[in-house]
Amino acid sequence: MLLDLHSHSTVSDGLYRPSELAALMAQAGVGCWALTDHDTVDGIAEARAAAHKLGLRFVAGVEISVTYMGKTVHIVGLGVDENQADLQAHLLATRSGRDGRMQAMADRLGDMGIAGAYEGALALAGNPELLSRTHLARFLVQAGHVPSVQAAFDRYLADGQPACVPMQWAKLGDAVAWIRAAGGVAVMAHPGRYDFSPLQEEALFADFIAAGGQAVEVMTGSHREHELPHYAALAQRLGLAHSCGSDFHGIKEGEAPGRYPQMDLAGLPCVTGLLVA
Ligand code: AMP
Ligand code: MN
Ligand code: MN
Ligand code: MN
Repeated sequence: MLLDLHSHSTVSDGLYRPSELAALMAQAGVGCWALTDHDTVDGIAEARAAAHKLGLRFVAGVEISVTYMGKTVHIVGLGVDENQADLQAHLLATRSGRDGRMQAMADRLGDMGIAGAYEGALALAGNPELLSRTHLARFLVQAGHVPSVQAAFDRYLADGQPACVPMQWAKLGDAVAWIRAAGGVAVMAHPGRYDFSPLQEEALFADFIAAGGQAVEVMTGSHREHELPHYAALAQRLGLAHSCGSDFHGIKEGEAPGRYPQMDLAGLPCVTGLLVA
């Protein structure tokens, strides 16, 4: 069965509403789907209702932003109770700095001669709490400053680029604990994207596992083919289950529901085995 356990809706930085995303997943032949918006579970109820109408197995998810060794790391929670008050409060606190950070990024762009960035991003996000670099990237494309969302990241918004204002997100151990306390499984999202040294990566996984992390994304739309064997071997060695997903936003080139580089992971347990049915 085709799994897609990582995706984004308009409730964070995706292009499609949760119910539209459910239809796209079903159309693509996905049999089990998780919505994993950034730092919010507000789309889960709509997503679940739409998925069940379509006969699609649904997993309530979230992707929590974490700061670890000065870099942003994402921890996906799968099978969380989206109504748990503690989880909702922690997520609200985590995303509360997004508005101020967007103002600061827009100021930097203003200094570079690009006006109206805050208003442009807000028009796309709809809600100041949800403002993300993806909205800002879409504004930069629309206003003709860059040819594509990826070019906006490469030139202005990626970590270390001139308009990126770093955030102090949640602590790794806290994010894992919030997910576990809400009944979920904590998954290390797209580890190939972090650009840590081998020693730092070892520390990241040791701390993740010590905090209660149980799975890692091996096959994801955010990994390139050559990264799959590395993370499959790492999962095997550390006793982690594997998870997989497109990281679909509906925005970037080459992404599609249920699409990610594939590899035979026979012998590696799948994260779905850890979810309560
Ligand atoms: P934010 O949570 O506002 O920092 O935005 C993070 C989002 O921006 C991620 O979830 C990705 O969708 C996107 N993103 C971050 N870095 C890059 C990058 N280097 N290239 C393309 N997209 C990126
Ligand atoms: Mn995103
Ligand atoms: Mn991510
Ligand atoms: Mn994601």
